[in-house]
Amino acid sequence: MSSSPIVIIGAGIAGASIARQFASRGRAVIVLEREQPACGGSGNPVAVVRPEPGGADNPIAEFSAAGVRWLQHWLTQHGASVPHAFCGAFRMTRDQRRHDKLRDYASARPHDEIMEVSGAAADKLCGQAPASSGFFLPQAGWLEPVALVHAMLDHPLIQVHTRAEVTSLVQHVDDSWRLSLSDGEIFSAAQVVMATAYATQLSPLPLAVDRARGQLSVVPEQADQAIHVIVCRDGYITPAINGLHTIGATIQYDDEDASARKTDDLENFQRLQRLLPSFAKDLGMVLSGRVAWRATTQDRLPLVGKIAEGLSVSVGHGSRGIACAPLCAELLVAALCGDPLPMAREWLRRLDPLRFAPR
Ligand SMILES: Cc1cc2nc3c(=O)[nH]c(=O)nc-3n(C[C@H](O)[C@H](O)[C@H](O)COP(=O)(O)OP(=O)(O)OC[C@H]3O[C@@H](n4cnc5c(N)ncnc54)[C@H](O)[C@@H]3O)c2cc1C
Repeated sequence: MSSSPIVIIGAGIAGASIARQFASRGRAVIVLEREQPACGGSGNPVAVVRPEPGGADNPIAEFSAAGVRWLQHWLTQHGASVPHAFCGAFRMTRDQRRHDKLRDYASARPHDEIMEVSGAAADKLCGQAPASSGFFLPQAGWLEPVALVHAMLDHPLIQVHTRAEVTSLVQHVDDSWRLSLSDGEIFSAAQVVMATAYATQLSPLPLAVDRARGQLSVVPEQADQAIHVIVCRDGYITPAINGLHTIGATIQYDDEDASARKTDDLENFQRLQRLLPSFAKDLGMVLSGRVAWRATTQDRLPLVGKIAEGLSVSVGHGSRGIACAPLCAELLVAALCGDPLPMAREWLRRLDPLRFAPR
C-alpha cells in the first residue's frame, strides 16, 4: 500500500472506526464529511449494543456477539470520554415457539452469556414487571454514539474535513483515485474507503443498499420506577440516561420525512406496552426523539471489503452499525494491510460488498 494519506468518505461510526484502524497502524488519514461527524445514523443520542442470541448456524448472532465483545474491549482501553454501561438486556420473544427454541439454546450456554429468567426474578432484574419471561443477556449495554465517533476520530494521524461533500470519485490510469468536492476542491489518493451508509451513488459498481427511516421516542425518568437493564423484544427501552429512557425504533421504507411524527411516537408507545405494560400504563404519552435513516441490505449484514484496486467500502450497517461497524473496520483494514484478522477469514466472503451483484 502507498504511504500517501488514505482518504475516507463519511464520518459516521463506519468511517471513524476505519480511520482509527489505519491511524493506529501509523497511516495518515483524511476523512471527508459532507456535514459534521456523526450527523447521520451515528448521531442518535443513545444506541443499544447487544448480541442477538442464537447458535453457530445464525450468522447475525455470531456477528453481533463478536461486535459487542470488540466494542467492550475498545471502550475499556479508549472509552473514558464515551458515556456507556454494559448493564445487560432482558430479551423477550414474540411467541412460545421462539421462546422454547431460545430456551434450548440457553440451556447449553454459560450464564454469563444468556440465562432464562422468569416471574419475580425477572421483575427484580428489570426493575419493572416485563410482559413475559425472557432471557438475560449480561453482555449487552448502551452507549452514546456521537461520543464514540469523536473518540475514534481523536488521533493525531486523523484529519477531518467537515462540509466536504464528495461529488465524484474517478480512477486515474495510474490506479489512484481523484475525488471532487462540491466546493471545487480536488483530492487524490491511492487508497479510498467509502463509508457513506446508504449514499452509494459515488461507487463505480452498484451496491445493493436500501434506506429505512427510523424514529426514536423518549420518556422522562419516572420517580420510584427505575428500569435497571435494557428491556427488548422487537423494540427496546433503555434505563434512564441523562434523565430520559429511549424507546426504539420505528422502521419505514420509502419514507423521506425528516420531521418527528406523533404517529411514530404512538407506535413506539405500543412497543413499550408490549415490553413493560404496567410501566406504560402509568405514563402519559411519550415524547419525540431523533429521526434518522438506516442503510439496509437483503441479508441484514453490511457490505464491507475491496471493490476495486485502491477502493473499499463499509456501508449498509443497518440496525447494528454502532455495535458492529467498529469490528468490521478492523476486519477491513487488517485484510488490506495483510495483518491477522479479528474474525474467521470466512467473514470476508460473508460481507463481500459485491455479493448481491449479478456475476
Ligand atoms: C432510529 C435508529 C436507531 C438505531 N439504533 C441502533 C442501536 O440501538 N444500535 C446499533 O448498533 N445501531 C443502531 N442503529 C443503526 C446505526 O445508527 C447505523 O447502522 C450506523 O450509525 C451507521 O453508521 P455509518 O457510519 O455507516 O453511517 P452514518 O452514521 O449515516 O454516516 C455516514 C456519513 O457519511 C456522510 N456522507 C454521505 N455521503 C457523503 C459524501 N458524498 N461526501 C461526504 N460525506 C458523505 C454522511 O454525512 C454521514 O455522516 C439505529 C439506526 C436508526 C436510524
